[in-house]
Amino acid sequence: MLFEDAASYYEKLESVTSRISMIDILAEMFGKAEKEEMRPLIYMTQGLLGPPFEGIQIGIAEKFAQQAIASATGFTKEEVVADAKRTGDLGNTAEGLARKTKLKRMSSRKQSVRDVFAMMLKTASTSGSGSQEAKIRNIAALLASASPLEARYIIRLALGKVRLGAGDATILEALSKMATGERRSKALLENAYNICGDLGKVGEVLAESGMKGIEKVKVSVFNPIRPALAERLPTSEEILEKMHGKCAVESKYDGLRAQVHLDKGKKRVEIFSRNLEKLTPMLPEIAEAALSEVKAERAIIEGEAIAYNEETGEFRPFQETIQRKRKHGIEEFSETMPLHLFAFDLMYLDGEDYLEKPYHERRAKLEYVIKGSKTIIPSGRIIAENPKELEKYFEEQISEGLEGIVAKDLNAPYVAGARKFGWIKLKRSYKGELSDTVDLVIVGYYLGRGSRAEFQFGGLLAAVYNEKRDMFETITRIGTGFSEEQMKSFKRMLDKIKRPGKPARVDAVVVPDFWVEPTYVVTVRADEITKSPMHTCGKEGETGYALRFPRIVSDGVREDKGPEDATSTKEIIEMYGMQKRVKVEDK
Ligand code: AMP
Repeated sequence: MLFEDAASYYEKLESVTSRISMIDILAEMFGKAEKEEMRPLIYMTQGLLGPPFEGIQIGIAEKFAQQAIASATGFTKEEVVADAKRTGDLGNTAEGLARKTKLKRMSSRKQSVRDVFAMMLKTASTSGSGSQEAKIRNIAALLASASPLEARYIIRLALGKVRLGAGDATILEALSKMATGERRSKALLENAYNICGDLGKVGEVLAESGMKGIEKVKVSVFNPIRPALAERLPTSEEILEKMHGKCAVESKYDGLRAQVHLDKGKKRVEIFSRNLEKLTPMLPEIAEAALSEVKAERAIIEGEAIAYNEETGEFRPFQETIQRKRKHGIEEFSETMPLHLFAFDLMYLDGEDYLEKPYHERRAKLEYVIKGSKTIIPSGRIIAENPKELEKYFEEQISEGLEGIVAKDLNAPYVAGARKFGWIKLKRSYKGELSDTVDLVIVGYYLGRGSRAEFQFGGLLAAVYNEKRDMFETITRIGTGFSEEQMKSFKRMLDKIKRPGKPARVDAVVVPDFWVEPTYVVTVRADEITKSPMHTCGKEGETGYALRFPRIVSDGVREDKGPEDATSTKEIIEMYGMQKRVKVEDK
């Protein structure tokens, strides 16, 4: 197919106003393409040079595109800029100036879709010194042998600004119409797309071997699977009813969804986000753990990457995990704030497609392949048979700093790219907001591991004072926000008051690495007070109170306060009742 033909289809696409007409035009265009042209044509129609997960960008800046237009048309750069001001679109400027070109068309040979695509790809991969000049030359060469209409789309492609409005679903319907005459019979195509994440590949397979080939598209390592999504229901009763009275209930981590593709033979790992973008460079510790700790040659594992403090078992808020999205300092962050992958699914293992297998089987195998890994850990979960069990687990997760739970149908397959009732999420609708700080007594501390090993200090176990019982009841673990100085000084101070077992006046469920005599008080700020079975503060029956996301705000310990001057249990219960209730936004 000549690029000229593609360009005139593109022009038609821009002028129609109904989706159905778009599909008709696309179907006609795809129908005219040769087998080998399907991939490039589909990518270019979406303004891309490959599947989105490859992240190929031409990366031409406006001013270089202007230069390319100038050198291909004989106008000066200033004239190009002035015209672009008028049209507001460099593509239109390229087209207009090509019409009035001062130069002769360089070659009479017409360019095919593949010629243009190949040149764009070559331009995208040019890097290093002198690469901008080379990019300008390449684009200018394409323009020099292009018609005015082709020039419009060449420039838009080079700038990454092809906006034909053809989304994934539109293209799938157009392919369906091309193959079957029916735009609605796209289920098989959609399924193939969901498991390979690559519309170009779907188009190519369809052109090469028809619907028969499409049915055979299989999961493969390094082709991201479009993720399964969770439905929502408001109560634990409704969830259990939908799940026929029994289901798995997993912790819902608020981090980054990460699909890990591993091929040990090739020593290669790629990690994809929920939108199928590559996250690999951002998560070096997880990529490394996949290579060295997973018991598989080739696998696809899915989980949530989240900042987690191994020493104290604390989960950190989303804002801390997301710091990884920055460009610099990743190495440093992977030391000071290592992420962990809480794995919740297995889609492929050593030649076998796991998508169709029931959840319980996928989960059992997942646990086996990641057993022993420190960085890739199975997501927390229970099997619930009644709403009460589910609710208790839910409360526990909230108090641990997590978002809620995801209930999973024990017999459901992995449904790629769809929101189905095989997964049902339950999050809080409101959370409390704590405006005041609290003063807490230190009753124990944790050893440092990983990067903190040298300080022999990883965090504190802290308590409030229950006047009625004359007991210290734990309310939180604190594992972040310490400076090196603070770590050293806490370690020094606390070592002097270490106790071999739990001090008599301390009431606790969680056990620190070392107990200490309640002596020192620190001032702490937290996001909110939640109910929790993990802590003994105000405990009645099975639940007490806990602080979510605590951090120390006093500069070391409070010299002016003794342990009995700490915030009391009674105050915490009052503060819990007075917390401002704020709506939790659903993403
Ligand atoms: P939402 O984004 O609120 O629709 O919730 C679904 C998201 O929760 C998924 O995309 C995952 O990123 C995340 N998630 C966290 N923990 C789990 C889990 N155990 N199972 C499934 N998804 C989880």
